[in-house]
Amino acid sequence: MGYQLDFSGKRVLVTGSTLGIGRAIAEAFHELGATVAVNGRSVDSVGKAISEMGGGQRLLPAPGDLSSVAQIRAVIEPAVSALGGLDILVNNAGRGDDCPVDKVTEEYWEKMLALNLKGVFFASKACLPALKASSGNIVNIASGLGVVGGPPGSAVYSVTKTALIQMGRMMALEFATEGVRVNNVVPGWIDTPMIRRENELLGDNALFDYIATTTPMARIGTAEECAGAVLYLAAPKASFTTGATLCADGGLTAGRYL
Ligand code: NAD
Repeated sequence: MGYQLDFSGKRVLVTGSTLGIGRAIAEAFHELGATVAVNGRSVDSVGKAISEMGGGQRLLPAPGDLSSVAQIRAVIEPAVSALGGLDILVNNAGRGDDCPVDKVTEEYWEKMLALNLKGVFFASKACLPALKASSGNIVNIASGLGVVGGPPGSAVYSVTKTALIQMGRMMALEFATEGVRVNNVVPGWIDTPMIRRENELLGDNALFDYIATTTPMARIGTAEECAGAVLYLAAPKASFTTGATLCADGGLTAGRYL
């Protein structure tokens, strides 16, 4: 028994949770009773998100950029201390700006890897002592573009997300006997500010049209549909699931039949 999702008393940190998928994940844990540390790059964006989410004692600010190890420490240590420990880390913050291969600069490469890979690795490392103490778990937000190919311009992004999936598996193995589970969620195309920005840049609704024609379920997904996958993996009843990759992608990574 005890199959109802209930995160009462759980302490959760969701990176990049002022907008989009991260915001929906933070709201979901909060609705189910958790105390949630909300992260975004600036004090203002985090404050605004917390007030839009209704405020109260179970929403704590954890502002700061997660692209350098020094900044990561400056975010994680006070957040874990304010939460009084940590049960669940959701590594959601990520950049998705497109760039065709022949325009990729070293600066672009380093920015992408700094947040999408280094950020996740060192945020996880910084949270490990607290997660070991609580027998907690980590959920990484990867991408369908880490599993299958996609439109031009996503090569570097795709590299970061494929590597992230493997990082999650390797960490799962390393901590399997220490009580810390690590899993990945693979969102397909999800309607968030990131995707709306890319759609605007391309013009003519090109990205939304591409999504509707290439996703087997013929529609874009919602941030709440990703949050559902995260809740399952983070829940106590998923206690035998580690190193797994759960897709919330409308069938995108299952293959094509047309
Ligand atoms: P978004 O741009 O709409 O929101 C990103 C969030 O991350 C914001 O809260 C922002 O403040 C935060 N953020 C950005 N840079 C940060 C930094 N340096 N430090 C801390 N926080 C930072 O993005 P989204 O679409 O919600 O994407 C969230 C995650 O899901 C990303 O990892 C993305 O790669 C992944 N993803 C998104 C889609 C999609 O279709 N939207 C698909 C697959 C994977």
